[in-house]
Amino acid sequence: DEPFVVVEDLTVRFPTADGLVNAVTGLSYSVEMGKTLGVVGESGSGKSVSNMAILGLHDPRRTQIDGSIRVGGTEIVGLSRRQLQRIRGNDVAMIFQDALAALHPFHRVGRQIGESYGAHHPSASKRDARRRAIEMLDRVGIPQPDRRVDDYPHQFSGGMRQRAMIAMALVNDPKVLIADEPTTALDVTVQAQILDLLQDLQRDFGSAIIMITHDLGVIAEMADDVLVMYAGRAVEYGTCKTILSEPRMPYTWGLLESVPDLDSDPTAQLLSIPGLPPSMLAPPSGCPFHPRCRYTDEVAGELCVRELPVLDTVGDGHLSRCHLGEKAAGLAEAGRREEL
Ligand code: SF4
Ligand code: MG
Repeated sequence: DEPFVVVEDLTVRFPTADGLVNAVTGLSYSVEMGKTLGVVGESGSGKSVSNMAILGLHDPRRTQIDGSIRVGGTEIVGLSRRQLQRIRGNDVAMIFQDALAALHPFHRVGRQIGESYGAHHPSASKRDARRRAIEMLDRVGIPQPDRRVDDYPHQFSGGMRQRAMIAMALVNDPKVLIADEPTTALDVTVQAQILDLLQDLQRDFGSAIIMITHDLGVIAEMADDVLVMYAGRAVEYGTCKTILSEPRMPYTWGLLESVPDLDSDPTAQLLSIPGLPPSMLAPPSGCPFHPRCRYTDEVAGELCVRELPVLDTVGDGHLSRCHLGEKAAGLAEAGRREEL
């Protein structure tokens, strides 16, 4: 049996007035039921776009999609809007950073949750939908759900709105949950509660989660596997343990270095990798990371500038896109020694 979500050689392009933007190129990954894939990268790396395509949230007249996305054995690429709508909210649901954008400000929270239930359960009565909304609000830890069900979104705190959005996303027991920076806007305590909640729900429903984030703390907490994206491509892929303990790609090293050691310095700010993310209209030649990479001199013949590295196996189930190849292991070791 193949994993529940299988993305193969996915390419997403947007024609713009300035030319064709290659938002995602040749991306492949898979997620099994009950597992969490963490997708990391800076903004513009294509990490959101690739998952919008799973939901069919792109404008088909303005987007060119090639490759294959299979969800529960159904090919998504090429489906009509109507067919996609049936899959969306039923098999696949999404939560994102901004709960206010997901919740209609003038409709009661419970009614909105009930409506997304009703949309996929046409025989359900209004009372069934309301009962289900209360049940879901309770499930996501909203106190007194039978009363709060009639509140408007503005009567909820930020953390409660985020929970209500999760309740709405999970009301139809989706098999896949796409979470795009779901805790970025929340304070640390609420963030931890929401992540716990997602893990509980995953245990109960067995859903696959695709967690899109730039926060490696969230990845360490949640992910089974990790996909690192840069300039619309996968640059490193492996188990969470492997990516966090034996990364083989300088961009991943940069991401890991930019996480301050909060134990030793609680006031540390998040550092960023020097230089800008690449332009998607005119990406750099060769390895797209080369203008920001400190290791190009370790590779002979200016290969980093001339040739795009292939995504190559560097360990058991571990892929990396870098000309350093075997040499990366030694450099990572040396780097760690330097730190000590
Ligand atoms: Fe750096 Fe070259 Fe590896 Fe790209 S291929 S990450 S530029 S060393
Ligand atoms: Mg995004």
